[in-house]
Amino acid sequence: MDACEAVEKELQRVISKFNGVHENAKRMLGDVAKNFDDFKSSIAEVPAEEKLTTEQINILRETLTKTKEKLQRLTTDHRDLHGAVSKIGKTIERNFVSDFSTITRNDVLVEEQNIQLLNKVIAQHLQRNNLDDVAATLINESKLPAEEIVSDPFSNLHRIWEAIYRGDLTEALEWASEHSAKLEARNSSLEFKLHRIAFLQKLDAENGGGSPIEAIAYARKHFSKFVDKFEKEIQLLMGTLMYIPVGLENSPYRGLCGPNLMVEAADTFLKDACSILGITKDSPLTVVTNTGCTALPALLNLKQVMLSRQVLGMWNGRDELPIEIDLDSEHRYHSIFACPILRQQSTEENPPMKLVCGHVISRDALDKLCSGPTLKCPYCPVDQSPNDAKLIYF
Ligand SMILES: [Zn+2]
Repeated sequence: MDACEAVEKELQRVISKFNGVHENAKRMLGDVAKNFDDFKSSIAEVPAEEKLTTEQINILRETLTKTKEKLQRLTTDHRDLHGAVSKIGKTIERNFVSDFSTITRNDVLVEEQNIQLLNKVIAQHLQRNNLDDVAATLINESKLPAEEIVSDPFSNLHRIWEAIYRGDLTEALEWASEHSAKLEARNSSLEFKLHRIAFLQKLDAENGGGSPIEAIAYARKHFSKFVDKFEKEIQLLMGTLMYIPVGLENSPYRGLCGPNLMVEAADTFLKDACSILGITKDSPLTVVTNTGCTALPALLNLKQVMLSRQVLGMWNGRDELPIEIDLDSEHRYHSIFACPILRQQSTEENPPMKLVCGHVISRDALDKLCSGPTLKCPYCPVDQSPNDAKLIYF
Protein backbone atom coordinates (compact mmCIF):
# COMPACT_ATOMS: atom_id res chain seq x y z
CA MET A 1 0.00 0.00 0.00
CA ASP A 2 2.86 2.35 0.83
CA ALA A 3 4.33 1.61 -2.58
CA CYS A 4 1.05 2.53 -4.29
CA GLU A 5 0.83 5.75 -2.30
CA ALA A 6 4.41 6.73 -3.20
CA VAL A 7 3.71 6.21 -6.89
CA GLU A 8 0.40 8.02 -6.64
CA LYS A 9 2.11 11.00 -5.01
CA GLU A 10 4.63 11.19 -7.82
CA LEU A 11 1.83 10.85 -10.34
CA GLN A 12 -0.09 13.74 -8.77
CA ARG A 13 3.05 15.86 -8.96
CA VAL A 14 3.37 15.16 -12.68
CA ILE A 15 -0.32 15.77 -13.32
CA SER A 16 -0.23 19.14 -11.60
CA LYS A 17 2.95 19.99 -13.49
CA PHE A 18 1.32 18.93 -16.73
CA ASN A 19 -1.70 21.11 -16.01
CA GLY A 20 0.60 24.04 -15.27
CA VAL A 21 2.53 23.55 -18.51
CA HIS A 22 -0.72 23.14 -20.41
CA GLU A 23 -2.16 26.40 -19.05
CA ASN A 24 1.10 28.20 -19.72
CA ALA A 25 1.34 26.89 -23.27
CA LYS A 26 -2.25 27.89 -23.98
CA ARG A 27 -1.56 31.41 -22.76
CA MET A 28 1.69 31.74 -24.69
CA LEU A 29 0.22 30.42 -27.93
CA GLY A 30 -2.68 32.83 -27.43
CA ASP A 31 -0.18 35.69 -27.06
CA VAL A 32 1.70 34.66 -30.21
CA ALA A 33 -1.52 34.41 -32.20
CA LYS A 34 -2.59 37.81 -30.91
CA ASN A 35 0.77 39.38 -31.89
CA PHE A 36 0.38 38.07 -35.42
CA ASP A 37 -3.23 39.21 -35.58
CA ASP A 38 -2.16 42.71 -34.52
CA PHE A 39 0.56 42.69 -37.14
CA LYS A 40 -1.86 41.45 -39.81
CA SER A 41 -4.34 44.20 -39.05
CA SER A 42 -1.57 46.81 -39.10
CA ILE A 43 -0.43 45.78 -42.62
CA ALA A 44 -3.99 45.36 -43.83
CA GLU A 45 -4.27 49.17 -43.81
CA VAL A 46 -1.52 49.41 -46.43
CA PRO A 47 -2.37 48.59 -50.07
CA ALA A 48 -0.83 45.25 -51.21
CA GLU A 49 1.68 46.67 -53.72
CA GLU A 50 3.21 49.20 -51.33
CA LYS A 51 6.32 48.44 -49.27
CA LEU A 52 6.07 48.06 -45.50
CA THR A 53 6.95 51.07 -43.47
CA THR A 54 9.93 51.00 -41.11
CA GLU A 55 7.53 50.95 -38.23
CA GLN A 56 5.74 47.91 -39.63
CA ILE A 57 9.04 46.14 -40.23
CA ASN A 58 9.94 46.82 -36.61
CA ILE A 59 6.64 45.39 -35.43
CA LEU A 60 7.26 42.27 -37.55
CA ARG A 61 10.79 41.91 -36.15
CA GLU A 62 9.51 42.30 -32.64
CA THR A 63 6.73 39.76 -33.24
CA LEU A 64 9.20 37.23 -34.59
CA THR A 65 11.61 37.72 -31.68
CA LYS A 66 8.79 37.33 -29.17
CA THR A 67 7.56 34.20 -30.96
CA LYS A 68 11.02 32.64 -30.91
CA GLU A 69 11.43 33.44 -27.24
CA LYS A 70 8.09 31.88 -26.35
CA LEU A 71 8.82 28.82 -28.45
CA GLN A 72 12.06 28.34 -26.58
CA ARG A 73 10.24 28.58 -23.26
CA LEU A 74 7.70 26.03 -24.43
CA THR A 75 10.51 23.64 -25.43
CA THR A 76 12.13 24.01 -22.01
CA ASP A 77 8.79 23.36 -20.26
CA HIS A 78 8.26 20.31 -22.41
CA ARG A 79 11.71 18.97 -21.61
CA ASP A 80 11.04 19.45 -17.87
CA LEU A 81 7.76 17.62 -18.18
CA HIS A 82 9.44 14.76 -19.99
CA GLY A 83 11.91 14.46 -17.13
CA ALA A 84 9.09 14.34 -14.59
CA VAL A 85 7.24 11.65 -16.56
CA SER A 86 10.31 9.45 -16.80
CA LYS A 87 10.74 9.82 -13.04
CA ILE A 88 7.44 7.95 -12.56
CA GLY A 89 8.93 4.88 -14.20
CA LYS A 90 11.85 5.05 -11.78
CA THR A 91 9.50 5.52 -8.81
CA ILE A 92 7.56 2.40 -9.85
CA GLU A 93 10.79 0.43 -10.20
CA ARG A 94 11.99 1.64 -6.81
CA ASN A 95 8.73 0.88 -4.98
CA PHE A 96 7.74 -2.42 -6.52
CA VAL A 97 9.67 -5.63 -6.71
CA SER A 98 10.39 -6.52 -10.29
CA ASP A 99 12.59 -9.54 -9.81
CA PHE A 100 10.42 -12.62 -9.51
CA SER A 101 13.02 -15.00 -10.81
CA THR A 102 13.25 -17.16 -7.70
CA ILE A 103 9.54 -17.61 -7.28
CA THR A 104 8.61 -18.31 -10.88
CA ARG A 105 9.01 -21.40 -12.93
CA ASN A 106 10.22 -20.64 -16.42
CA ASP A 107 10.35 -24.30 -17.31
CA VAL A 108 6.56 -24.48 -17.22
CA LEU A 109 6.09 -22.64 -20.49
CA VAL A 110 8.65 -24.60 -22.44
CA GLU A 111 6.31 -27.43 -23.31
CA GLU A 112 3.87 -26.85 -26.14
CA GLN A 113 1.13 -28.65 -24.23
CA ASN A 114 1.35 -26.19 -21.32
CA ILE A 115 1.30 -23.19 -23.64
CA GLN A 116 -1.91 -24.51 -25.15
CA LEU A 117 -3.38 -24.95 -21.66
CA LEU A 118 -2.54 -21.33 -20.91
CA ASN A 119 -4.12 -20.19 -24.18
CA LYS A 120 -7.21 -22.22 -23.35
CA VAL A 121 -7.65 -20.65 -19.93
CA ILE A 122 -7.18 -17.16 -21.41
CA ALA A 123 -9.72 -17.92 -24.16
CA GLN A 124 -12.25 -19.10 -21.56
CA HIS A 125 -11.62 -16.00 -19.50
CA LEU A 126 -12.28 -13.79 -22.53
CA GLN A 127 -15.48 -15.67 -23.31
CA ARG A 128 -16.64 -15.31 -19.77
CA ASN A 129 -16.18 -11.56 -20.02
CA ASN A 130 -18.24 -11.41 -23.19
CA LEU A 131 -15.22 -10.79 -25.40
CA ASP A 132 -16.14 -13.57 -27.80
CA ASP A 133 -14.50 -11.96 -30.81
CA VAL A 134 -11.14 -11.57 -29.03
CA ALA A 135 -11.42 -15.18 -27.79
CA ALA A 136 -12.17 -16.37 -31.34
CA THR A 137 -9.04 -14.59 -32.63
CA LEU A 138 -6.93 -16.17 -29.91
CA ILE A 139 -8.36 -19.66 -30.59
CA ASN A 140 -7.72 -19.17 -34.28
CA GLU A 141 -4.18 -17.80 -33.98
CA SER A 142 -3.02 -20.24 -31.33
CA LYS A 143 -4.56 -23.12 -33.32
CA LEU A 144 -6.44 -24.41 -30.29
CA PRO A 145 -8.71 -27.30 -31.24
CA ALA A 146 -12.20 -25.78 -31.22
CA GLU A 147 -13.71 -28.78 -29.44
CA GLU A 148 -11.49 -28.05 -26.44
CA ILE A 149 -13.25 -24.79 -25.79
CA VAL A 150 -16.56 -25.60 -24.23
CA SER A 151 -18.93 -22.69 -24.33
CA ASP A 152 -19.07 -21.22 -20.87
CA PRO A 153 -22.51 -21.23 -19.20
CA PHE A 154 -21.39 -18.02 -17.60
CA SER A 155 -21.64 -15.98 -20.81
CA ASN A 156 -25.41 -16.39 -20.68
CA LEU A 157 -25.47 -15.17 -17.07
CA HIS A 158 -23.21 -12.28 -17.96
CA ARG A 159 -25.62 -11.15 -20.66
CA ILE A 160 -28.55 -11.18 -18.23
CA TRP A 161 -26.44 -9.40 -15.61
CA GLU A 162 -25.66 -6.60 -18.06
CA ALA A 163 -29.32 -6.34 -19.03
CA ILE A 164 -30.33 -5.86 -15.36
CA TYR A 165 -27.77 -3.06 -15.11
CA ARG A 166 -29.46 -1.38 -18.05
CA GLY A 167 -32.85 -1.86 -16.39
CA ASP A 168 -33.99 -4.53 -18.86
CA LEU A 169 -35.52 -7.22 -16.67
CA THR A 170 -37.20 -9.45 -19.25
CA GLU A 171 -34.64 -12.26 -19.30
CA ALA A 172 -33.81 -11.96 -15.62
CA LEU A 173 -37.46 -12.36 -14.57
CA GLU A 174 -37.81 -15.37 -16.88
CA TRP A 175 -34.66 -16.92 -15.40
CA ALA A 176 -35.83 -16.22 -11.84
CA SER A 177 -39.26 -17.74 -12.36
CA GLU A 178 -37.68 -20.79 -14.02
CA HIS A 179 -35.43 -21.28 -10.99
CA SER A 180 -37.91 -20.00 -8.43
CA ALA A 181 -37.93 -23.13 -6.25
CA LYS A 182 -34.14 -23.28 -6.07
CA LEU A 183 -33.93 -19.57 -5.29
CA GLU A 184 -36.41 -19.98 -2.50
CA ALA A 185 -34.50 -22.95 -1.11
CA ARG A 186 -31.48 -20.68 -0.89
CA ASN A 187 -33.47 -17.95 0.82
CA SER A 188 -32.59 -15.69 -2.11
CA SER A 189 -33.98 -12.18 -2.36
CA LEU A 190 -33.41 -12.01 -6.13
CA GLU A 191 -37.01 -12.42 -7.29
CA PHE A 192 -38.25 -9.74 -4.95
CA LYS A 193 -35.49 -7.35 -5.97
CA LEU A 194 -36.34 -7.80 -9.65
CA HIS A 195 -40.08 -7.29 -9.08
CA ARG A 196 -39.34 -4.22 -6.98
CA ILE A 197 -37.48 -2.62 -9.89
CA ALA A 198 -40.28 -3.61 -12.29
CA PHE A 199 -42.81 -1.95 -9.96
CA LEU A 200 -40.79 1.28 -9.81
CA GLN A 201 -40.36 1.21 -13.58
CA LYS A 202 -44.14 1.06 -13.95
CA LEU A 203 -44.37 4.19 -11.81
CA ASP A 204 -41.52 5.79 -13.74
CA ALA A 205 -40.94 7.24 -10.30
CA GLU A 206 -37.97 9.45 -11.08
CA ASN A 207 -39.79 11.36 -13.75
CA GLY A 208 -42.98 11.48 -11.75
CA GLY A 209 -44.86 9.91 -14.66
CA GLY A 210 -45.89 6.35 -15.34
CA SER A 211 -49.07 4.70 -14.33
CA PRO A 212 -49.83 4.18 -10.63
CA ILE A 213 -52.81 2.02 -11.54
CA GLU A 214 -50.63 -0.35 -13.54
CA ALA A 215 -48.06 -0.36 -10.75
CA ILE A 216 -50.68 -1.27 -8.14
CA ALA A 217 -51.97 -4.06 -10.37
CA TYR A 218 -48.40 -5.31 -10.74
CA ALA A 219 -47.86 -5.20 -6.97
CA ARG A 220 -51.09 -7.16 -6.35
CA LYS A 221 -50.06 -9.80 -8.84
CA HIS A 222 -46.43 -10.26 -7.81
CA PHE A 223 -45.83 -9.06 -4.25
CA SER A 224 -48.27 -11.34 -2.42
CA LYS A 225 -45.77 -14.18 -2.13
CA PHE A 226 -43.11 -11.88 -0.69
CA VAL A 227 -45.25 -10.27 2.02
CA ASP A 228 -43.96 -12.48 4.82
CA LYS A 229 -40.32 -11.96 4.05
CA PHE A 230 -40.27 -8.40 2.74
CA GLU A 231 -43.14 -6.73 4.54
CA LYS A 232 -41.20 -3.57 5.35
CA GLU A 233 -39.82 -3.17 1.86
CA ILE A 234 -43.25 -3.60 0.32
CA GLN A 235 -44.68 -0.99 2.70
CA LEU A 236 -41.95 1.37 1.53
CA LEU A 237 -42.85 0.74 -2.09
CA MET A 238 -46.51 1.47 -1.39
CA GLY A 239 -45.49 4.69 0.32
CA THR A 240 -43.91 5.90 -2.90
CA LEU A 241 -47.35 6.13 -4.53
CA MET A 242 -48.15 9.24 -2.49
CA TYR A 243 -45.19 11.12 -3.86
CA ILE A 244 -45.72 10.45 -7.55
CA PRO A 245 -46.99 14.01 -8.26
CA VAL A 246 -43.85 15.65 -6.82
CA GLY A 247 -41.43 12.99 -8.08
CA LEU A 248 -39.67 10.46 -5.91
CA GLU A 249 -36.44 12.48 -6.02
CA ASN A 250 -38.11 15.09 -3.81
CA SER A 251 -39.53 12.63 -1.30
CA PRO A 252 -38.25 10.68 1.70
CA TYR A 253 -38.09 7.69 -0.69
CA ARG A 254 -35.35 9.16 -2.85
CA GLY A 255 -33.15 6.20 -1.88
CA LEU A 256 -35.21 4.10 -4.30
CA CYS A 257 -34.17 6.31 -7.23
CA GLY A 258 -31.05 6.01 -9.29
CA PRO A 259 -29.09 2.97 -10.35
CA ASN A 260 -28.49 1.53 -6.84
CA LEU A 261 -31.34 -0.97 -6.92
CA MET A 262 -30.32 -2.15 -10.39
CA VAL A 263 -26.70 -2.66 -9.32
CA GLU A 264 -27.81 -4.53 -6.21
CA ALA A 265 -30.20 -6.79 -8.14
CA ALA A 266 -27.59 -7.48 -10.85
CA ASP A 267 -25.01 -8.52 -8.27
CA THR A 268 -27.52 -10.66 -6.37
CA PHE A 269 -28.44 -12.31 -9.67
CA LEU A 270 -24.84 -13.16 -10.46
CA LYS A 271 -24.13 -14.54 -7.01
CA ASP A 272 -27.28 -16.66 -6.76
CA ALA A 273 -27.24 -17.88 -10.37
CA CYS A 274 -23.62 -18.98 -10.06
CA SER A 275 -24.31 -20.83 -6.87
CA ILE A 276 -27.39 -22.57 -8.36
CA LEU A 277 -25.51 -23.59 -11.49
CA GLY A 278 -22.47 -24.60 -9.45
CA ILE A 279 -19.99 -22.30 -11.19
CA THR A 280 -17.69 -19.70 -9.72
CA LYS A 281 -18.47 -16.12 -10.48
CA ASP A 282 -14.87 -15.46 -11.43
CA SER A 283 -13.06 -17.20 -14.25
CA PRO A 284 -10.31 -19.67 -13.29
CA LEU A 285 -7.77 -17.18 -14.64
CA THR A 286 -9.11 -14.43 -12.37
CA VAL A 287 -9.03 -16.75 -9.36
CA VAL A 288 -5.47 -17.85 -10.08
CA THR A 289 -4.28 -14.28 -10.64
CA ASN A 290 -5.95 -12.98 -7.48
CA THR A 291 -4.63 -15.86 -5.41
CA GLY A 292 -1.16 -15.35 -6.83
CA CYS A 293 -1.25 -11.64 -5.98
CA THR A 294 -2.29 -12.48 -2.41
CA ALA A 295 0.49 -15.02 -2.01
CA LEU A 296 3.23 -13.04 -3.70
CA PRO A 297 4.19 -10.64 -0.89
CA ALA A 298 4.66 -13.49 1.60
CA LEU A 299 6.74 -15.46 -0.89
CA LEU A 300 8.88 -12.43 -1.70
CA ASN A 301 9.51 -11.84 1.99
CA LEU A 302 10.44 -15.45 2.41
CA LYS A 303 12.83 -15.17 -0.52
CA GLN A 304 14.56 -12.26 1.21
CA VAL A 305 14.95 -14.26 4.42
CA MET A 306 16.23 -17.32 2.57
CA LEU A 307 18.64 -15.20 0.55
CA SER A 308 20.05 -13.55 3.65
CA ARG A 309 20.62 -16.95 5.25
CA GLN A 310 21.92 -18.40 2.02
CA VAL A 311 19.46 -21.26 2.03
CA LEU A 312 17.60 -20.40 -1.16
CA GLY A 313 18.54 -23.76 -2.66
CA MET A 314 16.31 -25.47 -0.09
CA TRP A 315 13.21 -24.30 -1.90
CA ASN A 316 13.07 -26.89 -4.60
CA GLY A 317 9.83 -28.75 -3.89
CA ARG A 318 8.26 -27.95 -7.21
CA ASP A 319 4.66 -28.79 -6.35
CA GLU A 320 4.62 -27.39 -2.89
CA LEU A 321 5.08 -23.93 -1.47
CA PRO A 322 7.60 -23.66 1.34
CA ILE A 323 5.10 -21.91 3.62
CA GLU A 324 1.39 -21.98 4.11
CA ILE A 325 -0.40 -19.08 2.46
CA ASP A 326 -3.53 -17.96 4.21
CA LEU A 327 -6.18 -16.99 1.68
CA ASP A 328 -9.50 -15.42 2.56
CA SER A 329 -12.62 -17.59 2.77
CA GLU A 330 -13.60 -16.66 -0.77
CA HIS A 331 -10.65 -18.64 -2.03
CA ARG A 332 -11.11 -21.78 0.06
CA TYR A 333 -12.70 -24.50 -1.99
CA HIS A 334 -12.12 -27.80 -0.27
CA SER A 335 -10.99 -29.37 2.97
CA ILE A 336 -7.35 -30.07 3.47
CA PHE A 337 -5.81 -32.86 5.44
CA ALA A 338 -2.70 -32.46 7.53
CA CYS A 339 -1.07 -35.64 8.81
CA PRO A 340 -1.19 -35.71 12.64
CA ILE A 341 2.07 -37.66 12.74
CA LEU A 342 4.28 -35.83 10.26
CA ARG A 343 2.38 -32.52 10.54
CA GLN A 344 2.41 -32.08 6.79
CA GLN A 345 -0.39 -31.25 4.41
CA SER A 346 -1.33 -34.20 2.23
CA THR A 347 -0.39 -34.19 -1.45
CA GLU A 348 -1.09 -36.45 -4.40
CA GLU A 349 2.12 -38.34 -3.67
CA ASN A 350 1.48 -38.45 0.05
CA PRO A 351 -2.30 -38.87 0.37
CA PRO A 352 -4.35 -39.50 3.53
CA MET A 353 -4.85 -43.18 4.37
CA LYS A 354 -7.61 -44.54 6.59
CA LEU A 355 -6.57 -47.33 8.92
CA VAL A 356 -8.86 -50.23 9.80
CA CYS A 357 -9.59 -48.63 13.18
CA GLY A 358 -10.78 -45.45 11.48
CA HIS A 359 -7.81 -43.19 12.26
CA VAL A 360 -6.33 -41.31 9.33
CA ILE A 361 -2.64 -40.63 8.76
CA SER A 362 -0.58 -39.82 5.67
CA ARG A 363 0.96 -42.53 3.49
CA ASP A 364 4.50 -41.44 4.39
CA ALA A 365 3.67 -41.79 8.09
CA LEU A 366 2.12 -45.19 7.43
CA ASP A 367 5.29 -46.35 5.64
CA LYS A 368 7.46 -45.07 8.49
CA LEU A 369 5.37 -46.76 11.18
CA CYS A 370 5.36 -50.14 9.44
CA SER A 371 7.53 -52.76 10.99
CA GLY A 372 7.12 -56.00 9.10
CA PRO A 373 3.64 -57.14 8.10
CA THR A 374 1.83 -55.51 11.00
CA LEU A 375 1.17 -51.96 12.00
CA LYS A 376 0.18 -50.65 15.39
CA CYS A 377 -2.11 -47.60 15.14
CA PRO A 378 -0.40 -44.74 16.98
CA TYR A 379 -3.74 -43.62 18.42
CA CYS A 380 -5.84 -46.60 19.55
CA PRO A 381 -3.51 -48.79 19.22
CA VAL A 382 -5.02 -51.60 17.14
CA ASP A 383 -2.77 -54.10 15.42
CA GLN A 384 -3.50 -54.35 11.74
CA SER A 385 -2.02 -55.01 8.33
CA PRO A 386 -0.77 -51.86 6.54
CA ASN A 387 -2.22 -53.32 3.31
CA ASP A 388 -5.73 -52.88 4.71
CA ALA A 389 -5.34 -49.12 4.93
CA LYS A 390 -7.51 -47.33 2.38
CA LEU A 391 -6.71 -44.19 0.40
CA ILE A 392 -9.35 -41.55 1.11
CA TYR A 393 -10.34 -38.42 -0.82
CA PHE A 394 -11.62 -35.20 0.61
ZN1 LIG B 1 -6.44 -46.28 15.42
